[in-house]
Amino acid sequence: MPSYTAPTRDTRFIVNELLDLASYGNLPGFEMASTDVTDAVINEGGKFCSEVLAPLNLPGDQEGCTRNEDGSVTTPKGFKDAFDKFREAGWGTLAQPEEFGGQGLPHVLGFVMEEFISSANQAFGMYPGLTNGAISALIAKGSQEQKEMYLPKMVSNEWTGTMNLTEPHCGTDLGMIRTKAVPNGDGSYAITGTKIFISAGEHDMSDNIIHLVLAKTPGAPDSTKGISLFVVPKFLVDEDGNPGERNGVMCGSIEHKMGIHANSTCVLNYDGATGWMVGEENKGLAAMFIMMNAARLGVGMQGLSQAEVAYQNAVAYALDRRQGRALTGPADPEAQADPIFVHPDVRRMLMDAKAFTEGMRALCLWGALLVDLTHKAQTEEERAEADAMIGLLTPVIKGYGTDKGYEVATNMQQVFGGHGYIEEWGMSQFVRDARIAQIYEGTNGVQAMDLCGRKLASKGGAAIQAFFKAVGEDIAAAKGGEELGPLAEALEKALGQQQAATMWFMNNAMQNPNNLGAGAHHYMHIMGIVTLGWMWLRMAKVAQAALAGGTEDKAFYEAKLATARYYMDRFLPDAGALRRKLEAGSESMMALGEEAFATAA
Ligand SMILES: Cc1cc2nc3c(=O)[nH]c(=O)nc-3n(C[C@H](O)[C@H](O)[C@H](O)COP(=O)(O)OP(=O)(O)OC[C@H]3O[C@@H](n4cnc5c(N)ncnc54)[C@H](O)[C@@H]3O)c2cc1C
Repeated sequence: MPSYTAPTRDTRFIVNELLDLASYGNLPGFEMASTDVTDAVINEGGKFCSEVLAPLNLPGDQEGCTRNEDGSVTTPKGFKDAFDKFREAGWGTLAQPEEFGGQGLPHVLGFVMEEFISSANQAFGMYPGLTNGAISALIAKGSQEQKEMYLPKMVSNEWTGTMNLTEPHCGTDLGMIRTKAVPNGDGSYAITGTKIFISAGEHDMSDNIIHLVLAKTPGAPDSTKGISLFVVPKFLVDEDGNPGERNGVMCGSIEHKMGIHANSTCVLNYDGATGWMVGEENKGLAAMFIMMNAARLGVGMQGLSQAEVAYQNAVAYALDRRQGRALTGPADPEAQADPIFVHPDVRRMLMDAKAFTEGMRALCLWGALLVDLTHKAQTEEERAEADAMIGLLTPVIKGYGTDKGYEVATNMQQVFGGHGYIEEWGMSQFVRDARIAQIYEGTNGVQAMDLCGRKLASKGGAAIQAFFKAVGEDIAAAKGGEELGPLAEALEKALGQQQAATMWFMNNAMQNPNNLGAGAHHYMHIMGIVTLGWMWLRMAKVAQAALAGGTEDKAFYEAKLATARYYMDRFLPDAGALRRKLEAGSESMMALGEEAFATAA
């Protein structure tokens, strides 16, 4: 049976030392996030996830969700009880606004909890996770009446939320959606259509489910410009604010899928269900994007989460399993064989995982801080800067984070040899669960196009230039130093590769847009590599200062420096190879016609 212990020490390092959350005490909500409070959230939240959620992960995977004859869905044994405990402890309310019953703490702490929940039990985490996304959309675009009706109960997790975009014939290309919203004449709409793959679409853990649904009003343009957003509760809310009459939305079936078995992925049939428009007519996609951007960061975090839990189990296995001898001579001559931990190839996989997870955690939590700053920074300029930076980083966190998270999870399975392939060890579940994060919330191919087609060019390239400037300044400050200098020089080379790739796009994508499409995935990975390298340089700086200050936790900071060196040695060089692939352009990729792909003679 696999186990999970929340990485509280590393998280405290990032929150308290790297991000220095306490230094933002002048911003709303941050004044409550003293180091005592953040440490308590990290330690107690970690304990809850390790003790309550992690033990349900493997059994939940084995049992899965069950759709009953009446269309209701039963979650695996223990899930409802765990969700009650989660709700009673208020874990879902950490970063939600106080006016709707939240605790108003920084998003950073909400993200800390998201990582722990998702490592402990990704399928469970999606129920409150989707609720958070729906809350963001209602806060941004809902009417006052809608906010008052839905938000307090969603914030408290008495009610959960969903997002309904996908239909059988359209996923990425939402302009094609067919779900109709016909005015009832009383301000409400009759929603009719079929949505598929709706996560947490039906279940037994909350009193009501608040669906946010994309649909088209009569005569709306037949494109993304004709999409509106509707709120459609499973139970219509009565005059007292409680769940009343059953609405016309039913779960037609649940998908049998590769992973996240304990999350119900539903076909939802809307049959004249009563809904109300959220925001303006035909502006639904923009409203849904608010939800999706929040969700994309959460999905990027899932890449980290599965890598982390798989890594923890692989380390334990590598220290325990004995096969062969160390290349440099027996490490444990008394025993018949050495632990596999001594083999450089095993160490390569473990170090890759360590360097990725710690770097990615720093990036995700910094991303969460940027989300806070977009709302709470003191000046308009600072808010705009944070907004541009997180907009640029979101596809990288989602796309690179989940590609790499999946790769790490499979490498950790590899550490187990054949036992990794056997279900009872649990490594297969981590790989299967990690896989979905590359697909939903916009596939990683779509993330890459969002980064290269929209974000790079946005406002004349202002965001990417700000990124280059910020990384460049940290490199300049570190260069020449004995410890940090070599790290900074390595990062400078990788940054140069990214700048050259950006320039290549500028010179070659306009004349042939396929050049952009052909290189977008590579670019997203180059940027991921550079961004994590930047995080490692920043972490190394903090570690070096702690060591120079005579810290008592020398081993922790020395490990940070060693891992930073490993990252620069082993991750950064890939940026150069990826740039060369990108600069090969689209010609050979798009050269063949359909007939060349046919295998039959
Ligand atoms: C377990 C699970 C849970 C999900 N949860 C939800 C949910 O809660 N709510 C919801 O609405 N949806 C949900 N989805 C749907 C998910 O978001 C879609 O599957 C995803 O967006 C891709 O859409 P698609 O499956 O139709 O693939 P398609 O859009 O058909 O894409 C197929 C392939 O073509 C590529 N492609 C398509 N268009 C382009 C393009 N323009 N440029 C480059 N490449 C392109 C894609 O990257 C992909 O590789 C879920 C899916 C799964 C499997």
